[in-house]
Amino acid sequence: MSYLKQHTIGQSVWCSGVALHCGLKVALVLRPAPVDHGIRFLRTDIPDCPSISAYYNNVVNTFQATTIGSAGIAVSTIEHLMAALYGCGVDNLLVELSGPEAPIFDGSAAPYVKLIRKASIVEQDGARNYLTIQKPLTVAKGDSFIKASPCDQFQVRYEIDYPHPRVGKQKYSWALKNGSFGREIAKARTFGFLKDVLKLQRMGLIKGGSLSNAVVFDDSELLNLDGFRYEDECVRHKILDFIGDLALTGLPVLGSFEIRKAGHALHSRFLTELMDGKGYAIPKRLHFPAAYLSSGVSALA
Ligand SMILES: [Zn+2]
Repeated sequence: MSYLKQHTIGQSVWCSGVALHCGLKVALVLRPAPVDHGIRFLRTDIPDCPSISAYYNNVVNTFQATTIGSAGIAVSTIEHLMAALYGCGVDNLLVELSGPEAPIFDGSAAPYVKLIRKASIVEQDGARNYLTIQKPLTVAKGDSFIKASPCDQFQVRYEIDYPHPRVGKQKYSWALKNGSFGREIAKARTFGFLKDVLKLQRMGLIKGGSLSNAVVFDDSELLNLDGFRYEDECVRHKILDFIGDLALTGLPVLGSFEIRKAGHALHSRFLTELMDGKGYAIPKRLHFPAAYLSSGVSALA
């Protein structure tokens, strides 16, 4: 695939799955969309099927997931699908959902990547624009921060520090290049702690949560019998979430990001400061480094 052209999918595909927070079984259809359409979510369970653009200024909630909404309707937990679309280089797509939340599947982006590949990724007759970071920008809260700086590729360095013997300090550096999203990031699952489960359930959340769609820890151990998919699965999932939220700029991004202990709320604040503060440019011509060869999922190991 060419990095210089926009892409959609070759045919509609559908599947269904349980949503993590509302616990409902939701049907999902991905449909091809024309050049400059972007990513839109459409609620087929509501009269007149209203739709919402996957754009940073439609974010209405960032607690435990990213929710976009407008005109009284919302779609939540979109970040894993958004990360998969970004990693696959899909610019234009209509996402139909029969409920208020995207399915969680196994808690990673891999099932979404599989679905997108099944639909095939096709080049369109429209130039692709990139959003480039123009000047260093830092947003911080306590000891959490996101630092963005100009770079001729898309790269993320992430650090987490959880006071848990199976997590602790984890660091991971990742750059989008040939196959790297599928190989290094897509399979990393969401994670949580047993001590938070009851509290979240009382708040009406994680009704669909189970060991089949999350990595779960008790006070000292990992509860999933099949173990981790990567030793540092937690920090890789944090990168996955960041990519999914960054995709709400509406364009692929060229920049370098150094992040420590962030989450959906800080991601969203960063996006607002970047976009509203005009810390970016959309240049007409770009020079890509040799590493920037093709889709992030050409090899889903
Ligand atoms: Zn996540």
